[in-house]
Amino acid sequence: MSGEKITIALAGNPNSGKTSMFNAITGARQHVGNYPGVTVEKKWGHISLNGHDLEIVDLPGTYSLTAYSMEELVARDYLIKQKPDVVIDVVDAANLERNLYLAVQFMELGVPLVIALNMMDVAEGRGLKIDPDKLSRLMGVPVVPTVARKGKGVKQLLGEAVETALRQKQWRPLELSYGPDVDQALLELTGKFNGNSLAWSPLGARWVSLKLLENDAEVQKQVSQDPGLAGHMEPLRQKLRDHLRLTMDDDPEGVIADYRYGFIGGIYRQAVQETRAQRLELSDKIDKVLTNRLVGPLILLAVLYGIYQFVFWASEIPVGWLEGLFGWLGGVAEAAIPEGFVKSLVISGIIDGVGGVLGFVPLIMFMFFTIAILEDTGYLARVAYLLDRVLRNFGLHGNSVMAMIVSGGISGGCAVPGVMAARTLRDPKARLATILTVPMMNCGAKLPVYALLIGAFFAAREAQMLFALTLVSWGLALIAARILRWTVLKGETSPFVMELPPYRLPTLRGLLIHTWERTWQYIKKAGTVILGISILMWALMSFPALPEDQAAAWDAKVQAATTKELRQEVEYHKGQAELAHSVAGRMGRALHYVTAPLGFDWRTNVALVGGFAAKEVVVSTLGTAYSMGEVDPEDTVGLSERLAKEPGWNPLKAFALMLFVMIYAPCFVTVAVIRNETGGWKWPLFAVAYTTVSAYVISFLVYQGGLLLGLG
Ligand code: GDP
Repeated sequence: MSGEKITIALAGNPNSGKTSMFNAITGARQHVGNYPGVTVEKKWGHISLNGHDLEIVDLPGTYSLTAYSMEELVARDYLIKQKPDVVIDVVDAANLERNLYLAVQFMELGVPLVIALNMMDVAEGRGLKIDPDKLSRLMGVPVVPTVARKGKGVKQLLGEAVETALRQKQWRPLELSYGPDVDQALLELTGKFNGNSLAWSPLGARWVSLKLLENDAEVQKQVSQDPGLAGHMEPLRQKLRDHLRLTMDDDPEGVIADYRYGFIGGIYRQAVQETRAQRLELSDKIDKVLTNRLVGPLILLAVLYGIYQFVFWASEIPVGWLEGLFGWLGGVAEAAIPEGFVKSLVISGIIDGVGGVLGFVPLIMFMFFTIAILEDTGYLARVAYLLDRVLRNFGLHGNSVMAMIVSGGISGGCAVPGVMAARTLRDPKARLATILTVPMMNCGAKLPVYALLIGAFFAAREAQMLFALTLVSWGLALIAARILRWTVLKGETSPFVMELPPYRLPTLRGLLIHTWERTWQYIKKAGTVILGISILMWALMSFPALPEDQAAAWDAKVQAATTKELRQEVEYHKGQAELAHSVAGRMGRALHYVTAPLGFDWRTNVALVGGFAAKEVVVSTLGTAYSMGEVDPEDTVGLSERLAKEPGWNPLKAFALMLFVMIYAPCFVTVAVIRNETGGWKWPLFAVAYTTVSAYVISFLVYQGGLLLGLG
């Protein structure tokens, strides 16, 4: 393939040696003019190389691509409107971190890019050892070391540029993560573009959304002139910007810039060795300790353990209040509503079902609060950095850590945003492995199940137990990832970069907003989805009713009971007989032989079937199942206490059940999101199947092993 005409744009920071490079490439064949409509000088020149006709255009020197200055606007406009075949970014190797900021913005834009690592002589003189190959692999862009003043490396640079132009015809934008808040805002904004025109621009919705959040006047103007977008973008943009400012106490553009520098910092750490003592920033000093190979993991474990201690300690009293409140509500309903199905629906279906889930609101709230602290200070990014080394051994990427933490890696989270967070992984197989394993993390919906069972059977060791469950979920997810990467997702992993944004002092307001938003999500879900499923489960657990003769026989037995205690016992057995006769009860009993080796009784089976929809339902269904037939309002005890007293329940069974709930099928919403993210039903169905089988096998081994050890 020869004879093609290739346009090369030369870009770079002022003083990076761009003019020297332009001269070295074009020699005397230069033209000078102005960019249309502005007084910014435009220089260009033609040369031929291997039969190709190259046009070299010298862009104005800029530090950034946001339209804050005339030069930036001209440079960006040229790229977007003229679409050169390739951009050569001249960077000053002696000031690499600052210069790469522009390079990252080219990558976000997606232009075919080659980096000229200029002033290599100066960098070496300063004792910097830069590894161009590593830099190139980490950035995913060709990097050519040059000394423009002496014309060194220029030929190779041009060759690389031509090859890139011929190879990459499409723009491929880099999707960086800018932290959970900005990422979420970007998702909301890009959602608005679906089906809309974007006719004015060849650019992707994500880039435009990013610029809107960055307050880019030019992009705002363009969007406001677009009939398909004009009306609804601006209010949303304002809302999201205000929200970001509130939670992060900084302008979104500041936060976005921080994350770009974080990305660069991650690359720099790996590709550059500073042989002479360099000044350490405060963040770097803290990182020396927190991300230290030996001390770092110990601190991480201590932090986790401390969090669990704190959360159980702080939530104990308010959880008790809520239990009391729902007990009281049940009593009121008991007294106010006449005997019959309505009463059963209100008490067993709604109050005991949803109440069981809502009762854990304080626990969830404290958990989210501590996670907000970790997130807002920047410590969570360090956790990702620390675990990155571990994860590589399991065929995952550093960015998988963030997805896993979002999904509940610390306990309390959600696999839905977790699965979406996997988008930042560029390696498709590592991304799939992440998507398929994050549902094993301990999300906010599993927490009430744990809290219930830990409260009933491990009350003396609450924090230790949750700590252990956290480690187990990580261990299982990693093993699952390793197996997937050995089997269905075989392949090499490509190199990647960990982002290390600087530490920030969180604001109390930001923490409270983050905590409340997530807690409110939980409450809303309990009041809507869980309420709906709870009522459905109640119906399945109540119908069909016992045949008349059997019901009459039970009533006679109740009448015959002589003491109050005896009558209560008979009522309870009657309730259980009714449950056993219902659709759900039959299902639970049909599964008896399947789950008996795991120690589960048929009522637990009913709860687990409901849990396919959402894991909180396990709690609400157990609440309903164990409250049916309970009559005495004076005697309402929390479900936890009820289970603790129930024959057939013991710590071993509770533990096997917690493991099962941790591992088995992702909830419906997560399944739907996996479908969206993978573009078909194959992977979500695979996820449901492999997790449920794994859950069965693991709970089986644990329960039977426990029995052998005499723990039952
Ligand atoms: P521009 O502002 O990016 O166009 O930068 P110039 O091309 O004007 O270069 C700035 C200064 O750096 C000039 O004095 C150049 O001679 C010098 N320079 C450019 N490239 C190199 C290089 O690779 N090594 C060294 N030592 N000096 C360079």
